[in-house]
Amino acid sequence: MKQLEIELSDAQNSMLNARLNREFYKRCSSDIIYHKIDEATTVQELEAIAEQYGFCDIIDLSAFAPYSARKIMRILTRAIYQFPKIVGRINYVGSYGGYERLLRKMSEGDWECVRSLGLQHILSTENAKALGGFGLELCKELWEEANISLAAFASLGGCCNGLLFDSTDYKDYAYLDTIANLRKNEQIGFHPKGCNTFESVAYHEIGHIMDAVCHFTSSETGKRFLEQYSAEEIESGLSGYALTSPQELVAESISEVFSSSTPRKIASEVFAKLCEVYQSS
Ligand SMILES: [Zn+2]
Repeated sequence: MKQLEIELSDAQNSMLNARLNREFYKRCSSDIIYHKIDEATTVQELEAIAEQYGFCDIIDLSAFAPYSARKIMRILTRAIYQFPKIVGRINYVGSYGGYERLLRKMSEGDWECVRSLGLQHILSTENAKALGGFGLELCKELWEEANISLAAFASLGGCCNGLLFDSTDYKDYAYLDTIANLRKNEQIGFHPKGCNTFESVAYHEIGHIMDAVCHFTSSETGKRFLEQYSAEEIESGLSGYALTSPQELVAESISEVFSSSTPRKIASEVFAKLCEVYQSS
């Protein structure tokens, strides 16, 4: 994957680091948020909850019906309350289309957009343009890889990371098709046990965010820990997809732990190790 090099001053770098290390501040119990989500009748009301409590920098659920938007909000609430440090890595939440529009604006040097991401003291106009352009290319690569469905996490150095949901997957028969596919993939062991829902795909992406927060798969500790599992063990004890990379092994484990009431050995062990690293990070 391509890398973008942006020159930042020491002061800008320390501001970016502070941004990456943000933590969600729990002003109330999660039950209060869930209640507000259930009470909200429009997508705008749901977006307002995310903005009020500081779930991310920008949320745009306008491409979704309230039913799907509510699901997204519940997933976010659960993940953020369990792991408050993930908010430092989630800048945008919404549809792929909305994310592309945001990046296009950045690539054009739209300062309002830079400001709404809280990057006005970190990026120059030129840097913002370069980052936007780079993000657009990255998106194209992500979409062209094709087998993305329902959700994805786009990492743009913590400046403009996107937790993305494919709005076309929620419309009419497309949704039924997607769910049928997920069930089939679970049955054949391509995805973990219990991971046959829209939520399980979203939690898989949350797993990638947790990995980024903990620097897990990029660390020696993480690498050594994951090496204990043989390919056969991973395939039979977690999923076929988990075999593709250490990053997917982590994401599939998180997905199973969040989705199943009886997560299996590998998922539980990887989750426990990740939690241990998270607590000490
Ligand atoms: Zn993945």
